[in-house]
Amino acid sequence: MKVYADNAATTKMSKHAIEAMMPYFDEIYANPSSLHSEGQRAAEALLDARERIGACLGCSSKEIYFTSGGSEADNQAIISAAKIGARKGKKHIISTAFEHHAVLHTLDKLKKEGFDIELLPVGEKGNITAEQVANAIREDTCLVTVMYANNEIGSVLPIAEIGKVCKDKKVLFHTDAVQAAGHIHINVKDENIDMLSLAAHKFHGPKGVGVLYSRLGIPLVNVIEGGAQERGKRGGTENLPGIMGMAAALEDACAKIDENAEKVSFLRDKLIKGLSKIEHSALNGDDVNRLPGNVSFCFEGIEGESLLLLLDEKGICASSGSACTSGSLDPSHVLLAIGRPHEVAHGSLRLTLCESNTEEEVDYILKCVPEVVNYLRNMSPLWHDKVSGKKEFFLK
Ligand SMILES: *Cc1c(COP(=O)(O)O)cnc(C)c1O
Repeated sequence: MKVYADNAATTKMSKHAIEAMMPYFDEIYANPSSLHSEGQRAAEALLDARERIGACLGCSSKEIYFTSGGSEADNQAIISAAKIGARKGKKHIISTAFEHHAVLHTLDKLKKEGFDIELLPVGEKGNITAEQVANAIREDTCLVTVMYANNEIGSVLPIAEIGKVCKDKKVLFHTDAVQAAGHIHINVKDENIDMLSLAAHKFHGPKGVGVLYSRLGIPLVNVIEGGAQERGKRGGTENLPGIMGMAAALEDACAKIDENAEKVSFLRDKLIKGLSKIEHSALNGDDVNRLPGNVSFCFEGIEGESLLLLLDEKGICASSGSACTSGSLDPSHVLLAIGRPHEVAHGSLRLTLCESNTEEEVDYILKCVPEVVNYLRNMSPLWHDKVSGKKEFFLK
């Protein structure tokens, strides 16, 4: 059996999104900036996509900026808010300790440029409260950037409440909604969001394309200099096929948001219930307030990487929370942020589902994971030390 359970990393494109892209490769391929009629057909399609995406988010097409994905949108939003703040002598930025690296590394760069970066501590269930944000805001705060939902542990943050606090205190508010868009309801106006990032490939659209929503009147700074595309805020010929695929995927996802959430969260809860039976394990994140498809666990006494490789041999594509891809052995900053000890954070497993996963697949995962965990624990000297009482368990 082959099971893809890594939908937070990326999703399979929907047939509809692929079909929506095709005409823009071979029929309407002209440059939307060209004045001839073929160019104008492309420009009309671009405007149509902008309007449809604006409608999904509850904003105007004039507030939609196309980017190369979530990372670029995060960079542009944060750098813009920092520049706007700096002009007024405001250099304090509030964020959280468990943001995506597209946010954290941009903040690191600003810190070197003299900005004062404050990362709010995350609660043990992966929560951040609006009160924490309210208490942290100062006279010189120029930006609050808090993710909508966490990509590793799936916790969903109180964005509307944080938006209200920022509006009352007149501080710009950006949210990295890459994990949320197309999966949970978003309305940027109702939630007082000034800037929001999303990426098409996290909701069955194409890779390499995303959106920065930026409220009218916010003077964005370019991160890509060039032509006058995107109202002068992002140079480069538009990725029209990608943009059309993204518009189709977002509309489909938003039209079926409740139906999909119900189906996926049923599978998620079955998986969580089953995996919770493994002794000395713990669910990461909130059990209620979480993304429909996210399951994240720590298993004491094992290495997440070994677990992934053995699951891969059984046909299961999963992910660990750790930054092993970078070649470092540092455990995930997200798991450390919710207070997992280093050793426990190393034994993490993230399974992220979508609406095309099935109950049979969940049953198969529930058969394989306990087998593999037991196998690895039996080989681990550390585990034997714990069982014999020489070392203590962290997780009960
Ligand atoms: C995937 C992801 C990103 C990065 O998006 P890309 O389109 O891959 O650049 C940023 N933030 C979060 C929360 C993500 O899950």
